[in-house]
Amino acid sequence: MNGPEIHLEVAPELRLFLSPERRRRRTALATDGSSALGHVVESAGIPPTEAGRLVVDGRPAAPSHIPRAGETVEVYAVDRPQQVPGAPLRFLLDVHLGTLARRLRLLGVDTAYFSEDIGDPALARYSAEHRRVLLSRDRGLLRRRELWAGAYVYSDRPDEQLRDVLGRFAPGLAPWTRCTACNGELVPASKESVPGRIEDGTERTHDVFAQCVACERVYWRGAHHHRLEAIVADALREFGPAPRPTDG
Ligand SMILES: [Zn+2]
Repeated sequence: MNGPEIHLEVAPELRLFLSPERRRRRTALATDGSSALGHVVESAGIPPTEAGRLVVDGRPAAPSHIPRAGETVEVYAVDRPQQVPGAPLRFLLDVHLGTLARRLRLLGVDTAYFSEDIGDPALARYSAEHRRVLLSRDRGLLRRRELWAGAYVYSDRPDEQLRDVLGRFAPGLAPWTRCTACNGELVPASKESVPGRIEDGTERTHDVFAQCVACERVYWRGAHHHRLEAIVADALREFGPAPRPTDG
């Protein structure tokens, strides 16, 4: 692009998307004189899901604005918590986020996840068909036009990923109500109601408390429970159990 040059000022948390030589507070960028600002920002490397408010020479601007020479363009991150209008808040996670998927389900957050790689086009279509927010660390995936909604996951560590998503979208939390294996709803159960589903050793030493209505997996208070309870307690302490008023 060799048209009008603008000055780009990108919020610190979005600078990782820029090429290394542009990761300064203020950088010059040549545009083609006809592309809209939304496209220019995306071309600079910022996924469309991550660009929030745009400000041109101190005034709010729409993504359709055509940048002119000498303008200063500020790009902010999306507001937190981010509102996702049009459907109850539900997620779809890409194949690399299996641990995050299980932790969101543990907290009762509706989370679709395919353990096999179904491919970017299919994942984006699934997001649109089921109105789920696609979470991914794949910038190319987040640029796909078919996406209904999406968000970049900023950390590669599951505990930070969980805090990122809970802080960004503020989903209502309902721990121990969803199957971590398949996202199905859990209903209360007892040893007597599910005798055929439990191995002998487990039946002697643990109490059954729930069963998945979808895959019939049985949940009992097992040895690894303490670790999961710590994840739940930490999430509730920081993000609370109350659903947002916009949740359906
Ligand atoms: Zn299940």
